[in-house]
Formats: sequence, structure tokens, C-alpha cells
Amino acid sequence: MSFTDKVVIITGASSGIGASAAKMFSKEGARVVIVGRNEEMLSATATHCPSSLVIRADITVDTEAQRVIDETVKNFGQIDILVNNAGGIPLRSELTEDTLMQAFDSVMNLNLRAVVHLTTLAAPHLIKTKGNIVNISSVAGSTPPFGPGVMSYCVAKAGLNHFGVCAAVELASYGVRVNTISPGPVKTNFQKNANYSSDYEKMTEVTLIKRVSEPEEIADMILYLTSDRAEGVTGSNWICDNGFSIKR
Ligand code: NDP
Repeated sequence: MSFTDKVVIITGASSGIGASAAKMFSKEGARVVIVGRNEEMLSATATHCPSSLVIRADITVDTEAQRVIDETVKNFGQIDILVNNAGGIPLRSELTEDTLMQAFDSVMNLNLRAVVHLTTLAAPHLIKTKGNIVNISSVAGSTPPFGPGVMSYCVAKAGLNHFGVCAAVELASYGVRVNTISPGPVKTNFQKNANYSSDYEKMTEVTLIKRVSEPEEIADMILYLTSDRAEGVTGSNWICDNGFSIKR
């Protein structure tokens, strides 16, 4: 799986799955674009990625998403791979609370709208390189909600799953592949940021094979799907959840 000189944009590369993917792509010779908001954590990822560009941006702000694409092309001249990984639950709210619409908007903006926006901005560049896209969804997009106040996240990820299929269809004739990965529980900052317990020991009980994934396992899948070895794979949704969905 050689990525020599490929230009890879990874959103949410300051932490967790995105940071692991940035390091792995970099090890395989890619020029990685490390996107996120936390300057310190972005720099920490960049120290492991020799040929990288850090772009501090909030991808839910349209002008900042545009800047991610513009700065990438200005610095590296092309885009080969877009990894729409940034996501999470910035606000939790239940249907019966008057905070619901604020939570819904923030979660949809991050997990779905920003992905659609970055995809449309990157598409002309990916068409030129016959590149590809991987979206990081969640088993929350296809299994019942796993706790109060996360309806918006489940709906956003379900939308993301279908967006992946629609985008694969629309971009197929241009030679651009689009795939989705749906992780189950992964040991990252996601749980802490979403006000979930990060008792991973306890979490193993909800999976079929009694384990929780490391971020590198999801990053591995990202590298496979974006490599030439997966040239026959598009419009797919790969589940990596230690059997969490089946058990539920
Ligand atoms: P982390 O919280 O460790 O990473 C989330 C990343 O998203 C951070 O780098 C964060 O960067 C970035 N991010 C959040 N909001 C924005 C924003 N507005 N603009 C730019 N970047 C943003 O969690 P994970 O690594 O686990 O999450 C990666 C993906 O995996 C997400 O889409 C998540 O939904 C999905 N997922 C995770 C699971 C898990 O158990 N960990 C399970 C299923 C799916 P910064 O704070 O610097 O902006």
C-alpha cells in the first residue's frame, strides 16, 4: 500500500482515529494535511508526519472548509484522498428538551453538513487525480440509540451512511470512489468529549468478542480502502465494532 507523494486531507487529525491515520499515511510516504481546531494537538500529530501541512480550521464554518481546500492545493498542488473523519457529539439533548434544536443543528453540522460541504469542494480536485473519499460514520447510524440525548448523532450518522452511497453513485463516472467506515467503541477522546463513560473495561461487555478497538485498527481500514488494493470497492460501509451491532 504505497501512498508516496499522495496528498491526503484528514479532518479531525488532532486526536484519536484521525491522528492515527495521519501517522500511518505519513509512514507510507503520503503528504498529509492535518485538520482540526486544537493547535497543540495538531502540532503533536504533525511531529510524527514529516511531510505535512497543519490547517487549524473549524470545518463547520463554510469559509474555513474552503480554506482547507485552498491551502492544500496552494501547498501541494493536488488532492488525492479526503478522509472525512472529524465528528462527535458537541451537544446532547433529548426530544423533550427545549435545547433539542440547538443540539440537532450542531451535531448535524459537524457530522453531516460539513462532510457534504468538504466533499463538494474537494470533488473537482479528486476528479483530476481519480482519487477517493472515506467517511467515518458510526454503528450509531445503523443501530438503536445507546444512551439518552444522542438521537441527533444517530440520525446524522445514518444520513452520512446514505450520503456515502449517493456520492459513490454521483462520482463513479469520474473515477472517484467513496466508502464509509462504521466503528463501534474505539479508545479515543470521543467518549470524554461526548460525556460518555470511558470505562473501556465495562464497554467490552457490550461487544460480542469482548474487546474495544484501538484507533489504529480503524486507521488501518482507512488506509486499505483508500489504497489501490481497494480499487474495486465503492459505495460500501465497513463495520469494525467487535460484534457490537450483532450483540445489540
Ligand atoms: P476524537 O474526539 O478523539 O477526535 C475527534 C476529532 O474531530 C478531533 O480531532 C477534533 O479536533 C475533530 N473535530 C471536532 N469538531 C471539529 C470541528 N468543528 N472542526 C474540525 N475538527 C473537529 O474522536 P474519534 O477519533 O473517536 O472520532 C473520529 C470519528 O470517529 C468521529 O467521526 C466519530 O463520530 C467516529 N466514531 C468514534 C467512535 C469512538 O468510540 N471513538 C465510535 C464510532 C464512530 P479538534 O478538537 O482539534 O477540533
